Order: sequence, then C-alpha cells, then structure tokens
Amino acid sequence: MLDQSPANRVNAILGRLGEALAGGDVEGAVDLFATDCYWRDLVAFTWNLKTLEGRDQVRAMLQSQLPAIRPRPFVQDSREAAAETDGITEGWFDFETADARGYGHIRIRDGRIWTLLTTMVELKGYEEPKGIRRPLGAEHGSSRNRRTWAEKRAAEARELGYVTQPYVVIIGGGQGGIALGARLRQLNVPTIIIEKNERPGDSWRKRYKSLCLHDPVWYDHLPYIPFPENWPVFTPKDKVGDWLEMYTKVMELNYWGSTACQSAEFDEATGEWRVTVRREGREVVLRPKQLVLATGMSGKPNVPKFPGQDIFRGEQQHSSQHPGPDAYAGRRVVVIGSNNSAHDICAALWEAGADVTMVQRSSTHIVRSDTLMDIGLGDLYSERALAAGMTTRKADLIFASLPYRIMHQFQIPLYDRMRERDKDFYDKLEAAGFMLDWGDDGSGLFMKYLRRGSGYYIDVGACDLVIDGSIKLKSGADVAHLTEDAVVLKDGTVLPADLVVYATGYGSMNGWAADLISPAVADKVGKCWGLGSDTTKDPGPWEGEQRNMWKPTRQEALWFHGGNLHQSRHYSQYLSLQLKARMEGLATPVYGLQDVHHRS
Ligand SMILES: Cc1cc2nc3c(=O)[nH]c(=O)nc-3n(C[C@H](O)[C@H](O)[C@H](O)COP(=O)(O)OP(=O)(O)OC[C@H]3O[C@@H](n4cnc5c(N)ncnc54)[C@H](O)[C@@H]3O)c2cc1C
Repeated sequence: MLDQSPANRVNAILGRLGEALAGGDVEGAVDLFATDCYWRDLVAFTWNLKTLEGRDQVRAMLQSQLPAIRPRPFVQDSREAAAETDGITEGWFDFETADARGYGHIRIRDGRIWTLLTTMVELKGYEEPKGIRRPLGAEHGSSRNRRTWAEKRAAEARELGYVTQPYVVIIGGGQGGIALGARLRQLNVPTIIIEKNERPGDSWRKRYKSLCLHDPVWYDHLPYIPFPENWPVFTPKDKVGDWLEMYTKVMELNYWGSTACQSAEFDEATGEWRVTVRREGREVVLRPKQLVLATGMSGKPNVPKFPGQDIFRGEQQHSSQHPGPDAYAGRRVVVIGSNNSAHDICAALWEAGADVTMVQRSSTHIVRSDTLMDIGLGDLYSERALAAGMTTRKADLIFASLPYRIMHQFQIPLYDRMRERDKDFYDKLEAAGFMLDWGDDGSGLFMKYLRRGSGYYIDVGACDLVIDGSIKLKSGADVAHLTEDAVVLKDGTVLPADLVVYATGYGSMNGWAADLISPAVADKVGKCWGLGSDTTKDPGPWEGEQRNMWKPTRQEALWFHGGNLHQSRHYSQYLSLQLKARMEGLATPVYGLQDVHHRS
C-alpha cells in the first residue's frame, strides 16, 4: 500500500510541480492547482508582491515569467514536519530560480494545491555575510597603512552623500526606515536614511507620554537583533526609542538625524533622483538611483476643519502633538475620536485629574488586549508559541501564507470567540452608550488594520473608565462648531473645554509623495495601503495585496515602506532584495504592476 503520510503527499505534489516548472510545462503545473487556488508570491516569481487567484491567473503569470525566472525543482524542507489537519495537508519547501534561493509553504486539499506561498530569501552571489560568510573583523598580518574599523566607518560616514552617492535614499528614520536600512547594509547597498528628528527613536519618544506598544514583544522584533528574553511584553514608547537608537548604531546605519527632506524629483534621462535635504543648516543634494518613502502611515495628521477653530481660546492639538496629561489636571478636555489614541489619551488625562469627554461619531471595534493576545496572536506570537517550537520567521511565513482574499474567513471565528468570552464587558460598554462594531464582516482587528489602518482600540483599561463614567462619553455625536470656550455638537450639546484633542487619525502615505515630489507623481502612484475589499474606507476594486507597499509602483524607482513592526521586519526583506537586484543590474521583470483606482 502506498504510504500516504503528509510528508509523502507534500513530496509527491512538490516533485511534480517542480518538474513541470523546470520543464516549462505551464499546463502541467496549472493542472496541479485546485480551481479555487491561491498562489502568493513575494518577489521570487513576479518581482512583485502578488497573489494569483484561480488557475487562469496562475497560468497567465507562469506564461509571462517562467522563461526569465527559470525555477529549479522544489524540495521539501525535512526539518519542518508536514502535517494534516481537517483534510488539509501542509508543508514547507526550498526552491531555486536562476537568480535566487527561495522558501515556500504549501497547503494541499483533495489532492491539489489550495494555497502556495513562494518567497525570495537571497540572491545567488549576493548572499548576506552571515554564518559561514561572517566577516572576520580583525585583519591578521601586518600593514603600515592599516585602517581600523572605526576609521573606515568614520570615513564612510563622512564621505557618503558628499564624495560618493548612495544608491538608495530612505526618507524617514522611524522603525520602518531603520529596519530597511539594516537589511540594505547587510546587502552592501550604500544607503542614507534621512530623518528630521534629532535621534533615532524620536518618532516614538515624541508621542504622548502614556503610550506603550499595543502589540506584544513576540510580534515586534526587528531583523537581526531580536529583543532579549527579559524584554517587557508591551514596550514603553521611550524604551522602543532607545532600542531603535542602539540598533541604528550597532547595525552601522548611515543615519542623518536633524535633516529634513525638502523635495525630490526624478530625472528620467539619467534615471536618478535629485533629493534636496537640509542638514546642519546647509542644503545638500543627494543623487540616489532609488528613493524610498518611509515617512510613516501614522505620520501625516488628519485634522478636521470646524467653524470656530480660529476663535477658540483654549488649546487645540492633533493626537500626535499631545504632550501627555501633566499640564491638564483640573482642566476640561474634549477628545474628538474614539480609536486607540483617543482611548489612551483620555485614560491618561483622567489619571492626571482632568475632566475628560470623548466624542464618538461612528462605531469602533474594541478588543481586550489579553483576549487578543490569547486568541488572536497566541498560536504564532507568544511564549506558548515559542514553547511549541514556533520561530519568528516561521510565524511570519504562516501569516503571509494566508491569502488576503480569504483571510477574513479565518479571522471571523476567532472574533466570534472573543465576543463570547468577553460578553459581559461588551454588554456594559453598550449600556454606557458606546457604539461597537466588529468590522463590516465581523472579521475584527487585523482585517481592519490591513484594509484601512484604523477604526479600533485594543483595550488596556480605558474601557472600564468609559463604562463607569469616569471618561464621559458623547456617542453618535458630531461636532458642529467651536465657540471661544466650548465644543458644540450637532445635537446642540455644549461641551466646555480648555483643550480640544483631535484623535482623528492619519492620511494616506501618498500624501507624502505629493508634498515632497509632486501632486502629479502622487496621483500617478495612487493610494497607499488597503486591499480594495470594498469595506468602509477601503474602496474596491479588489487588489489582492496592500496598495503600493514594499513593491514597485507606477513611478519608476519610487517605493513605499512602513507598517507595524511585524510588517516592517518581514516586508523589508523583500524590498531590500528588490533594491539589491536593481543595483546589481539583474533582470527584474515585474509581473502585474498594480492599476491605480484611487488617488488618496
Ligand atoms: C498611538 C499609536 C500606537 C501605535 N502602536 C503600535 C504598536 O504597538 N506596534 C506597532 O508596530 N505599531 C504601532 N503603531 C503604528 C506606528 O505608528 C507604526 O508602526 C510606526 O510608527 C511605523 O513606523 P514608520 O517608520 O513606518 O513610521 P514613523 O514612525 O511615523 O516614522 C516616519 C519618520 O519619517 C520622518 N519624516 C517624515 N517626513 C520627513 C521629511 N520630510 N524629512 C525627514 N524625515 C521625515 C518622521 O520624522 C518620522 O520619524 C502605533 C501608532 C500610534 C499612532
């Protein structure tokens, strides 16, 4: 009898797939896929981030890419056991193409490929200097012209941008710019990170005083240097700042702090950017071949306009400008908005003795932090996951292996469980008048984040203050106008105020392209972020991947990087490889460059 173990099933189908692909047999390969299949490729086959849905899309991609990509046989990773659950067999594999080595994940259903993930890991001949390729450091022997590591490093820092030009300029030295800079450094791609704040980590330090990361430590590691085992679960914002500063130094990044990018323009003739920055009071013009905007999706404040803002005598701040509660003890504060920042700010103000009112216009998704950690993240990112043998790399790949089109189907049952577990809590919140939602289709927080990047609060305590009335709530309410000393709502309610905080979120990242490059280029590349799910704030048509992030855009040599720490860690790998390949002059035939349906 044939051995039908999961490993054998994976071996059999991978063997046939690898053979068909290596032999250029497109139909033979397509035949191995289920009709409702998904192939998510991160750079290895498409030089893009692309999910192919259904056999026709797989066929079209292979017809276009196979001649250039020239894949070799797929080999099951024997270190990772194949498994079978509920009729789905899954396994891991290594593969090669003409220019790269890759790693992948497969799910088989009814004998055919249901989901396939292929990711590029390294470029042949341009591997990172790690493990057996680790640099020696010391130069043994003797030489009269010997320069120490410190001398060489100082010379590089002195000359790059003045005597020599970087290949890449990254605008924005938050965690995104820093993680990408670290990967490019390991790939030997000359890079300068431009940051208007003085020190790495300042983008976190400057946020409101009470902020701690909302995501847990297992989710937050940076590339190369994971947080130590005694690191707190939720890192206080100044501690993240210090970690980023340390990281920037030890990863030897060329980081220009206190330097603002003023403008950038692409010269089609030379294929070069002209990036004007102001450093130490002087204008410097950089001429990189590639420009990355890592200016933050939580960086461009959305401040609503209301009549009367000009006559209001108190203070008005966007949440990103709010310094924290200390100066507001005994003062009356109105916070407009009801998502993460609004809750954190209201709670801290209440703790400091302010009289706080939260104005909620539309519903918010709330999930309790400990419940989210357990049900939402626990299998992949937790001590429990580590104890079960999970690694950060594997967790990132499992997460990436779920196609966006069906991801909500996996999320909905988790959020149903959360709703059930915390029923009393939600009942009390609604009794207090708070308007709740679970996302348009009940799929909860991650889908809201991926689709629109807003609309939720991970509860770490503020909800109890709303429930017991310590934080006053005006829900279903919209602002009509401000007077000299109050916020007036459309229902006529007058909320006397000394301070108004607009916790009203942030604009699309392509607004930065409009500011720094031109509105025409911003329109050409279109909206950043979102999947085209046709849910609130994520208009269709369906895109299948996050718009414009970490992949080629409609503007040659312009890239966007950002997201939370998990995305920054994982997707910086693919962006750095795309940039390195271009620097080395490798062929990078991009498949399926996205169409632009929305400008911002
Ligand atoms: C309240 C709050 C809580 C959050 N909690 C978490 C969390 O727990 N985990 C998580 O992963 N994410 C969290 N986020 C999201 C967080 O904002 C992003 O993960 C993170 O900031 C993204 O990093 P970034 O490097 O892409 O952007 P930023 O950190 O915003 O960095 C962008 C940088 O670009 C610089 N810049 C902009 N324009 C220019 C210019 N013209 N010249 C030079 N420099 C420029 C800015 O000064 C800034 O330092 C939170 C966000 C908020 C607002």
